[in-house]
Amino acid sequence: MTTSRICEHCEGPMPLMARSHARFCAPRCRAAAARRRQTVPVELTRRPRWIRHTARKVPLTVGGATASSTDPVTWSRYRDAAASATGAGLGFVLNGDGIVCLDLDHCLDPDGELAAWARTILDAAGPTWAEVSRSGDGLHLWGYGTLPHGRRITVGGGGSVELYGTGRYIAVTGRTYGDKPQRLGDLQHVINSLL
Ligand SMILES: [Zn+2]
Repeated sequence: MTTSRICEHCEGPMPLMARSHARFCAPRCRAAAARRRQTVPVELTRRPRWIRHTARKVPLTVGGATASSTDPVTWSRYRDAAASATGAGLGFVLNGDGIVCLDLDHCLDPDGELAAWARTILDAAGPTWAEVSRSGDGLHLWGYGTLPHGRRITVGGGGSVELYGTGRYIAVTGRTYGDKPQRLGDLQHVINSLL
């Protein structure tokens, strides 16, 4: 038995030959839906350091080749990466230009309750963007700071934070956490307090 499917953007009929997992009737609708969903701050979207990644976090170019966090040739503009159907999701490459990401592991319980240690860090961070990670139980805290190399820090209260500033990519969901603003603020004081 077949059911008629509709495009998630225009709600028009899907082409008869559309693949079973297709969600949009045309590239134009996929791109429009990506723009409508966008909650990624412009400080990130204006930098041409976007990739795709597989479900197992293997980095891919928009065209589906292997990408590298250290090879700019394999990166794309945000709009191209966001509109791409390659792989399972989007990624942003950190290259040491001052944008950092603090990865707060397992800080959200199944009800969405935030662990106290993570609340302390978020409050200290002030107005800067945070997104829910792909797993749904972690947060990425984005902002500006200096971090010569990645670090994993164990914090009181059973928490763990990974700090990244260069040489790797972060899977970006665009799922803004709570009422965090869509802009990047300074995170250096938070980094200093963790190191
Ligand atoms: Zn459509």
